[in-house]
Amino acid sequence: MNQAVSNPVQARTTLSLAGRIALVTGAASGLGKRIAEVYADAGASVVIADLRLADAQATADAIAKKGVRTLAVAMNVADEASVDAGFERVRQNLGEVDILVSNAGIQIVAPIQDFGFADWKKLLAVHLDGGFLTARAAVRQMIASRRGGSIIFMGSVHSKEASRLKAPYVTAKHGLEGLAKVIAKEGAPYNIRTNVICPGFVRTPLVEKQIPEQAQALGISEADVIKNVMLKDTVDAEFTTVDDVAQAALTFAAWPSNALTGQSLVVSHGWFMQ
Ligand code: NAD
Repeated sequence: MNQAVSNPVQARTTLSLAGRIALVTGAASGLGKRIAEVYADAGASVVIADLRLADAQATADAIAKKGVRTLAVAMNVADEASVDAGFERVRQNLGEVDILVSNAGIQIVAPIQDFGFADWKKLLAVHLDGGFLTARAAVRQMIASRRGGSIIFMGSVHSKEASRLKAPYVTAKHGLEGLAKVIAKEGAPYNIRTNVICPGFVRTPLVEKQIPEQAQALGISEADVIKNVMLKDTVDAEFTTVDDVAQAALTFAAWPSNALTGQSLVVSHGWFMQ
């Protein structure tokens, strides 16, 4: 039997991003941080872009110990000037980006009748304006470099399914699928490909915060939120892990052709099967 196929860990470690420049938004924490680490392990130079510069710098410094180039950039993905300035800083310091993971995100939960308009707009701004602004900046650099590249949006099972209390989040995550498909078509002549990763629940700070909030909103215990809301439909009652998601992000970034462009991949321990 082929050794690489029989041993999935072995197969994963053979993917290389040597020589590539990867920018990950929201990389000071959670999923983005793990993706940046895995990209560095695969040989990429990594840019840690986040609202929180001190945490981004600490992440970049830790990753630099792996022997790759790193850069921490303060970036508010919902702000046009901040995104464009951040990408320009990357171009001047490292070169044009080859890989964008548009991952920064927030969560706000409330019943629709109580959802404040300001909260609705805030969430859409981070996820949808952020997706557009970072992808536009990346596309511009990928065209200029003539190397093309890979753009990965962090979707969610909520790109496919609805849950109670998450009106803007579900709306935004569905919207990112449309954006990715358009860029797959427009980017193809420039060798730019796009994908969406759709994780189930991962125990990052974003989800830890939701557990008590959902318990209160639904009038159930925190244990019941985990068991009967978050993990109810998985095949193994397991949370998705940051590594599950980072390996999917590595596969998309390293994929050598346009074969998978425009596709989304659900990484959810069987919660949602398409
Ligand atoms: P997290 O809270 O651990 O990390 C999010 C990071 O984004 C933080 O470092 C934060 O500072 C940064 N950020 C927030 N707003 C920003 C802005 N305007 N500009 C720049 N950076 C900003 O969350 P996470 O769970 O790692 O989430 C990452 C992404 O994965 C989000 O898009 C989220 O919707 C998505 N996601 C998470 C889960 C999950 O269960 N954790 C599941 C599916 C999808």
